[in-house]
Amino acid sequence: MDKQTDPHFANLASVASLLVAAGRDRRPGSPLNRPPMPASNFVLGTERAYARDDGTPTWEALEEIVGVLDGGHSVAFASGMAGIAAVFDQLSAGSRIVLPDDCYQGVAGLAEFGAQKGRWSIHRLAVDDTDGWIQATADADLIWLESPSNPLLVVADLRSICAAPRKASAILAVDNTFATSLNQRPLELGADVSFQSATKFIGGHSDLLAGMVSVRRHDLLVALRKSRELHGATPGALEAFLAVRGARTMALRLERAEANAMILAERLSSHAGVACTRFPGLRTHPTHSIARAQLKGYGTIISFDIHGGAVAADAVCSRVRLIQHATSLGAVESTIERRASIPGQQHLPPSLLRLSVGIENIEDLWNDLDAAMTNRG
Ligand SMILES: *Cc1c(COP(=O)(O)O)cnc(C)c1O
Repeated sequence: MDKQTDPHFANLASVASLLVAAGRDRRPGSPLNRPPMPASNFVLGTERAYARDDGTPTWEALEEIVGVLDGGHSVAFASGMAGIAAVFDQLSAGSRIVLPDDCYQGVAGLAEFGAQKGRWSIHRLAVDDTDGWIQATADADLIWLESPSNPLLVVADLRSICAAPRKASAILAVDNTFATSLNQRPLELGADVSFQSATKFIGGHSDLLAGMVSVRRHDLLVALRKSRELHGATPGALEAFLAVRGARTMALRLERAEANAMILAERLSSHAGVACTRFPGLRTHPTHSIARAQLKGYGTIISFDIHGGAVAADAVCSRVRLIQHATSLGAVESTIERRASIPGQQHLPPSLLRLSVGIENIEDLWNDLDAAMTNRG
């Protein structure tokens, strides 16, 4: 059933309600939530024969929820990178890809890997070089945008770039992981693909890997499902079940974590130990005005540089107690890491700390961070 036309979902004041309502069976006697169904094959006689080809009810629930949230149809993958690889899989030999200079390192790595094999050429542009993006869009085959970007949190002018002329066969994709579909809906802005790593905010509990690729174009929907089938990039039953469980509370989690992030960003920006605070919600942020126009909320990620270089930043990571010293983002627990300590990220400021703000009490978070920076406690 096409949930966009499902009368149950007409006239809602917020798409957030869809997170709770979508992806359920409404037939009498059905469990309210689709149970995890660990099945590879099914008794023949219906459309569902083999899970890798035909899906399972468990991951279809997740696809329904994210599909209605994004205003399109969503295809679930084994991880975010599996979904991204399926988008890149659509390119013919010799394609031209435009990529941001600041983006998820896995995407840059995948693009580089293919370029080295002679599959395509890459052109990289600053996230905020709107004119450059508009020009490059004209003859590109894949325009891959990420906004806000990782980890510098630069906001791209998606509306202008999506409106620029592009080839009918071109794919304009937005990595919407940092914004989430609650803050930004790329398909409505004119993108062909809205991608999210469900490992992050949708799952929200650091206990699964999954990726969601949402589209409106029917050709892309069919092609992405085909790629998933041929590459075997299917989500696991338990992961899909957990991602649905996570999605139910995503709006609440995001609301709380965003409120925390705004307060922490303000306090960090006036902290003596901090050299630079990057957060799209701060008025001093270079792309704040686009962020204000384009995003419903400013997200939960803060990148800040501290005085004292890499040594001081590593010390903060080792001193935090409530905040976890860990990579990744978008979970209930706050996590912090020094990004330049990661192989391939040495171009970043050495003392840049990326903080993913969780749902803990704000004063407890601030006390932990401030104590770690001033070395007390
Ligand atoms: C984590 C992440 C990905 C990759 O997703 P995985 O689930 O780790 O494969 C892609 N883009 C962004 C912005 C991410 O944060």
